[in-house]
Amino acid sequence: MTKINILTPDIFNKIAAGEVVEKPASIVKELVENSIDAGATKINIQVYDGGISKIIVSDNGSGILPDDLKPAFLPHATSKIKTEEDLYKIGTLGFRGEALASIAAVSQVEVISKTSETVGSSIKLSGGEIVAQGEKGSPVGTYICVENLFFNTPARQKFLKKPKKEESEITSLVSKLILANPNKAIKYTADDKVIYSSSGQGLKEAIFAIYGSAVLENLIPINVDNGKYKLTGYIGKTSYFKSNRTYQTIMINNRWIADSIVNVALSQSYEAYMMKHCFPFCVLDLTVPNEEVDVNVHPSKLEVRFQDSRAIFGFVYRAITETIYSDLTKKTTEEVEVENQKPEFELQRAPETPYQSQTANSSTIDLDKLNLDFILDSPIQSNAAHSSEGSVLNEIVIEKLASTVAPKIFDEPRDTKINKNDEPTFIPKPTQQQLIKDDVIDKDEMLSSQIIGKAFNTFVIMEANDELYFIDQHAAHERLLFDKYVKQIKDKEVSCQPLLIPYTIDVNSAEEQFINDNLDMLSSLGFDIAEFGNLSFKISAIPSILPDLNVNNFFKNFLSNLNNYTQLKNIDLIRDDLAETACKHAVKGGDDLDKDELIKLVKAVGNGDVTLQCPHGRPFVVKFTRREIDKWFRRVV
Ligand code: ADP
Ligand code: MG
Repeated sequence: MTKINILTPDIFNKIAAGEVVEKPASIVKELVENSIDAGATKINIQVYDGGISKIIVSDNGSGILPDDLKPAFLPHATSKIKTEEDLYKIGTLGFRGEALASIAAVSQVEVISKTSETVGSSIKLSGGEIVAQGEKGSPVGTYICVENLFFNTPARQKFLKKPKKEESEITSLVSKLILANPNKAIKYTADDKVIYSSSGQGLKEAIFAIYGSAVLENLIPINVDNGKYKLTGYIGKTSYFKSNRTYQTIMINNRWIADSIVNVALSQSYEAYMMKHCFPFCVLDLTVPNEEVDVNVHPSKLEVRFQDSRAIFGFVYRAITETIYSDLTKKTTEEVEVENQKPEFELQRAPETPYQSQTANSSTIDLDKLNLDFILDSPIQSNAAHSSEGSVLNEIVIEKLASTVAPKIFDEPRDTKINKNDEPTFIPKPTQQQLIKDDVIDKDEMLSSQIIGKAFNTFVIMEANDELYFIDQHAAHERLLFDKYVKQIKDKEVSCQPLLIPYTIDVNSAEEQFINDNLDMLSSLGFDIAEFGNLSFKISAIPSILPDLNVNNFFKNFLSNLNNYTQLKNIDLIRDDLAETACKHAVKGGDDLDKDELIKLVKAVGNGDVTLQCPHGRPFVVKFTRREIDKWFRRVV
C-alpha cells in the first residue's frame, strides 16, 4: 500500500501556481486585479521580455499594512473574505487568496507598500522563501516586481512562448483591463515602450486609448436597465464590422469575461446585418446581482456561470436589438433629409443591360492580343482590356443548347418550349456524369483526336474514332493559367510588385501577433509587409501575379482566420483571387482563335496533371460517344 503524504507548503504552492500562474499574462491579470481591489485610480504596468524576465505593477491604492506583508504571501491569505456569506456576494475581483503565494513560489518577488497610516515597508521572496524584509520609504500604494519567472521550475519554463508572443498576450489582456476600468488611468509599457496609456476619464476615452480615433464615429452607445439587469457600453454600427472576435470586450459586473452567453446574444442580435466572417464591435458591461453569478468557474476566472442564463440571454438580445433598431431608424431620418436635398435626376439609375452587352463585346475582340504564346506564357496584363465574362457567357450558351434540343429524344425531363429564334441544334444536355467527372475522359484518347472545328468561337470540337469532344476555350485556358500561378507559388517563384503608395493597416495586438506569426507565409505569396510603428503594418509590395488585388479585402479575409484552429495554407488565402485573375486573363468565349492556338490549347489541356475543371469547379470538356449520337437519330436503340 502506498502511504499518503501530506505535501509541504512549498510543493503545494508550486502546484497551485500552475493553476493561477499559467503564463506572464495571468500574473499581470492577478496583480492588476489586486490593484483595482485596493481602490487604485492609477496603475502602472511594465513588462520586459514579454513578462518573462520582469513584470512590475505599481498602484496608488490603499497599500498593505507592514504586518500584513508576510501573510499576504501565505496560501489562502486574503483580506477580502471573512465569513462564508462573503463568498456568495463577492464583489472584488479575486477571492482565492492564493495569487501572491502562487506567483512568489515560481519567481523572485519584491513588494514595497505603504498605507496612509503606516510607514512604507518591503519584502523580498525567492521561490516562495522570504529573503529580506524591512522598512522602506514609499508613496501610498503598492509596488510589486516579479522577476525571473519559473526560474526554479525549468520544466514549466520550457512551456513559455517566445517573448513577443507572451507580450502580445499581455497586451491583449491589458487592453481588456483598460476597457473594463475606464475610470482608472492605466499606463502600460513593454520594454519601456508605451503601448497604452488611458486617462481614466470614461469609456469613450478608454476605447480611444485602445483602438484610436477611427472607431469612435462607428459606435452606438447602449444603456438599458430593466431594474434587475443592466447593460451599458458601446456597440458597433451595423455598417461597421471587424474580421475577427478580438474587437469584442464583454464585462460581467465590471470584470472582463472571455466567453459567455452574452457573446452569443450579441452575435444573434447582429445576424440580420452581418456578412459571413464578420464580427460586431463591442465594449459591454452587464450588471447582474452578485448572488446570481458565479465568476469562479474557471481558475483564471475568465468564465462565468449564471443562475438564469435564459433570462440573461433574453435581456441582452433585446437590449442590443432595440438599440440597433433605434439607431437605424434615427439614421433613416437623417438620410431622408439628405435625400430630400438631392436633385431628382441623381436618384434615377441607368437601366441595366444584361447579357446583350457581353455578346456585343465579344465581337469587338482585339485579335492582336491573341498571340500564339497565349497558352503557356499569357502575360498577365495582355487581356485585361476585355470586360466580357466568358464563363457567364458560356453558361448561357450551354443552358441555351440544352434547352433547345428536341424534347422527345431524351429521357430527362426538360423544358418543352422551343424558342423559335434559336437555331435547332442536336447537342444533348450533357449528363451529370459527363459534366462532373473528368475521369470518364481519357486524355490520351482525347489527344489523339482531330480538331474538326469550333462552335460560336467558344467551343473547340474534336473528333476521335468513336467520340466527339467539346472544349470550352475560356474555362480551359482559365485552368491552365490558374495552375501556372499555383506552380509559381509552390516553386517560390513569385515576384513582388511594389506599390506606388504603400498601404498601411491598423491592427490590434492579437492581429499584430497573427500577422507576425505568418510573415513567412505572406512573403512566400509575394507580399512585402513590415511593422510600421505601434500596431500598424506597412505593405509595400503585393504579389505580381495579382496586380489588381484588393489589399484591404485580402487582409480582412486573412485576419478572419485568426479564430481558426486549422493550419493556414498560403494558396488557400489567395485561391479566389488567383481564380479571378486567371478568369480575367484567359481567352474569352467568343474570341476568334486560329487553328494553331486551338491545337496548343488542346495539347496543354491533355497534359496529365491538368484537371478538366475550371478553378471554379465547372467542367470544360464534354464528351459524346458515337453510340449516344446514333441514339439521337434512332439509328440504334
Ligand atoms: P486575493 O486577491 O484573492 O485576496 P492575493 O494573493 O491576490 O489574494 O492577495 C493577497 C492579499 O494581499 C489581498 O487580499 C490584499 O489584502 C493584499 N494585496 C495584494 N496586492 C495588493 C495591492 N496591490 N494593494 C493592496 N493590497 C494588496
Ligand atoms: Mg488577488
